[in-house]
Amino acid sequence: MKTDVLIIGAGAAGLMCAIAAGRRGRRVLVVDHANKPGKKILMSGGGRCNFTNLGVAPACYLSANPHFAKSALARYTPADFIALVEKHRIAWHEKEQGQLFCDESSKLIVRMLLDECAAAGARVETSCAVERVRKTEEGFAVLTVRGEVHAESLVVATGGLSIPSMGATGFGYALARQFGHAVRPTRAGLVPLTLSGKHLERYQDLAGVALPQAGARVGKRAFRAGLLFTHRGLSGPAILQISSYWQPGDDLRLDLAPDAEAADWLPAQRAARPAAELKNVLADLLPRRLAQRLCEVWFGSRPMRQYREAELREIGHRLHDWPVVASGTEGYRTAEVTLGGVDTDGLSSSTMQSKRVPGLYFVGEVVDVTGWLGGYNFQWAWASGHAAGEAA
Ligand SMILES: Cc1cc2nc3c(=O)[nH]c(=O)nc-3n(C[C@H](O)[C@H](O)[C@H](O)COP(=O)(O)OP(=O)(O)OC[C@H]3O[C@@H](n4cnc5c(N)ncnc54)[C@H](O)[C@@H]3O)c2cc1C
Repeated sequence: MKTDVLIIGAGAAGLMCAIAAGRRGRRVLVVDHANKPGKKILMSGGGRCNFTNLGVAPACYLSANPHFAKSALARYTPADFIALVEKHRIAWHEKEQGQLFCDESSKLIVRMLLDECAAAGARVETSCAVERVRKTEEGFAVLTVRGEVHAESLVVATGGLSIPSMGATGFGYALARQFGHAVRPTRAGLVPLTLSGKHLERYQDLAGVALPQAGARVGKRAFRAGLLFTHRGLSGPAILQISSYWQPGDDLRLDLAPDAEAADWLPAQRAARPAAELKNVLADLLPRRLAQRLCEVWFGSRPMRQYREAELREIGHRLHDWPVVASGTEGYRTAEVTLGGVDTDGLSSSTMQSKRVPGLYFVGEVVDVTGWLGGYNFQWAWASGHAAGEAA
């Protein structure tokens, strides 16, 4: 069978690429080994798909080349995707920090992409695994379980390694290496952190305790969002965000009370409530169980008058700069994304085309571009898929 553009992976980037290429009159075939398209879109955003973010900017992406994402992001913006969503009358809302979600269900986003593919004449075949790819004079010969497909252009949109149970494979990385591309080391991103030994014992039974706002910092990089204690360690948006910047051995600090000036507040409380126990005073600032635990392990809990002002200031400073010794991450099993991937040095930033092999493209998460939590990763998938679809 012959086609102009063959896309491997019917996820966010692959489907967007198919739409753009199909609209240009190219014959497009998308193949995916999973039994249905867009599985990650379906499970995203708690079933409501956080499909973009109004604050998208190149600075919100991690990559060995921080400039690489600029061109594609500038040419397919959140406003472009919102226009598509509105064309399909899908109701949406902004949740917080520019994050846009469907009012109803992520299924509507997958339906929209498939309808657009159909309108552009792009075919999507699921349960169609790819076994081998070779370069031919005219382009590429791709052996699938349904036979060989010959294509002028080949787009690799196979995503990252996160959530293997959803069909994630390292196939895109292997293909990149086959064609002489460098692949930067991969690791789990946007992922809960684990604690071990005494560090876990101290907090484990706080599982379920949540802080609506906390700061998480590694070096100069800091995020402020919710934090959650889990049976294995720490999670919540602030932790997921910082996890992409954290590596084993890095110094991770938490601000447990970012809205307070705890170092001034505690001495003031001493004057106002001298007989109150510290753990009860801290419970005005922190979840009660956490306040109690911090007192048990570190601060003691005596009436406020029995603490010196300097001691209370020190405790206040500590709450804003709490050291955490994380032992690792929960890994690809629960990670939202994969950091690293196909080295951008080998790709054109305007078309995603390989600089080594004309007609070969890499889009979406398989590329070494990873966004923050909050719709940034889908926007990269849409933008990079669109850029390749305009060129392939
Ligand atoms: C639980 C969860 C929730 C998320 N929520 C959000 C969110 O709300 N907002 C956001 O911006 N991002 C979110 N993300 C991240 C986002 O889903 C990904 O960044 C995005 O889907 C990447 O798009 P992609 O097309 O590159 O890869 P994918 O969407 O992963 O698609 C890759 C496709 O390739 C197929 N494939 C893989 N290997 C092969 C092979 N060998 N042969 C054939 N096909 C293959 C897969 O079956 C899959 O369909 C979430 C991720 C997870 C895991």
